[in-house]
Amino acid sequence: MSGAKRQKTAHDAPAKRQKAEASASQASPDPPTEEESATLDVASSADAADAPEEPKTFKELGIVDSLCEACESLNYKHPTSIQAKSIPVALQGRDVIGLAETGSGKTAAFALPILQALLEKPQPLFGLVLAPTRELAAQIGQSFEALGALISLRCAVIVGGLDMVPQAIALGKKPHIIVATPGRLVDHLEKTKGFSLRSLKYLVMDEADRLLDMDFGPSIDKILKFIPRERRTYLFSATLSSKVESLQRASLRDPVRVSVSSSKYQTVSTLLQHYIFVPHKRKDTYLIYLVNEFAGKSIIIFTRTVFETQRIAILLRTLGFGAIPLHGQLSQSSRLGALNKFKGGSREILVATDVAARGLDIPAVDVVLNLDLPQDSKTYIHRVGRTARAGKSGIAISIVTQYDVEIYQRIEAALGKQLETYPTEKEEVMAFQSRVEEAQRETRVEMKAFLESKDKKGKGKGKTAGPKRRRDNMDEEEG
Ligand code: AMP
Repeated sequence: MSGAKRQKTAHDAPAKRQKAEASASQASPDPPTEEESATLDVASSADAADAPEEPKTFKELGIVDSLCEACESLNYKHPTSIQAKSIPVALQGRDVIGLAETGSGKTAAFALPILQALLEKPQPLFGLVLAPTRELAAQIGQSFEALGALISLRCAVIVGGLDMVPQAIALGKKPHIIVATPGRLVDHLEKTKGFSLRSLKYLVMDEADRLLDMDFGPSIDKILKFIPRERRTYLFSATLSSKVESLQRASLRDPVRVSVSSSKYQTVSTLLQHYIFVPHKRKDTYLIYLVNEFAGKSIIIFTRTVFETQRIAILLRTLGFGAIPLHGQLSQSSRLGALNKFKGGSREILVATDVAARGLDIPAVDVVLNLDLPQDSKTYIHRVGRTARAGKSGIAISIVTQYDVEIYQRIEAALGKQLETYPTEKEEVMAFQSRVEEAQRETRVEMKAFLESKDKKGKGKGKTAGPKRRRDNMDEEEG
């Protein structure tokens, strides 16, 4: 939080902000907390710093013509940094640890070497990619299909929340590549007749830090027992925590580490980041003001709970904005539907919990609004990373209240810089107040009906209303 020159006169958010700014400016030169350093300090040990100059084409990396053509058709003109560093190593047959964020082009970094090996020796059930969320799995599947379009690739995406029978049929057709969330894959390995991974040649663990944060460790251990030891393994992770290190020791052989991260949390230079300090009770009003400011742009609003996600989507719709919620308590088909509507542009605002923060590739997001701050700096980076992707510009604004100062300071410390306040005029914001209050009243009625209908459904399924309600207010978890 800098005391910052504002282009417009910032509204006069009284003593509290000044207090926050004062304490923030004292706090921010501090290094990241011990815990953060432990999980983030990755570049110092990476081979990246002494890497030779990066080749300029996929062909120069050793990629065969048919796959170079596929890259061209996807408009990948030059390899990204992680691709330039990891593809040659992977093509030499080495295991790879890739330290890279989503948005760096890491999917093609592991997909291209696997597809190239598959072309050399075609066989079914060749590669397995484990991903932490259903959406990320779907997205990786799409990338494999796009890159493999010219070579008749068969790819199956196996995730929780969907019927197992069609998945068992898809597995029966012997795809070349399986992209899966670990829990559901274990279900199939244990229950689906005739399905085995004994011929597997390549294993990828994508977003390994997140896989482990989400307690997929035991499922991964099981999967490792089902697959041959003679295989190549690629592990990609944004951070190298001690858990990731142990997984790496258990599953990779003499790996080469490549990294595009730095020792601090990094965001791309095309991303403008701001905060806005507001009284807690005025959060909705500021949010609506900001949404209105960015009308016509594609926006993701992040909230902390399923309840808030649903409430904000209704509030926005009541005020005439095209908003759609995305969270882990929606059915899988509703989640994909929500995402597709947003990607397709029929809704310009996606209101999401952190399930959507990691891994999703939504190329056209212009604005990220943090209505609730995330609990940790790592999640902040992933959220704001939804915009300013692949060289485009983007803006991220975090709404900070009197209750969030400490958490916000930790984020700034991790970023290693103070953000500028987003300039607003208090009068302009407050002009929205009465309409927002009216919409809040309507929203309360709709939310009541929504919760009652959920309770009824819950009871119908033999669940009690109480725990269901409590879940609505909890941070959500991905299944
Ligand atoms: P990822 O980090 O794999 O989620 O990729 C982020 C985005 O970058 C996706 O939209 C990819 O299609 C895109 N991408 C990947 N590699 C390249 C490349 N070499 N040139 C341009 N875009 C790319």
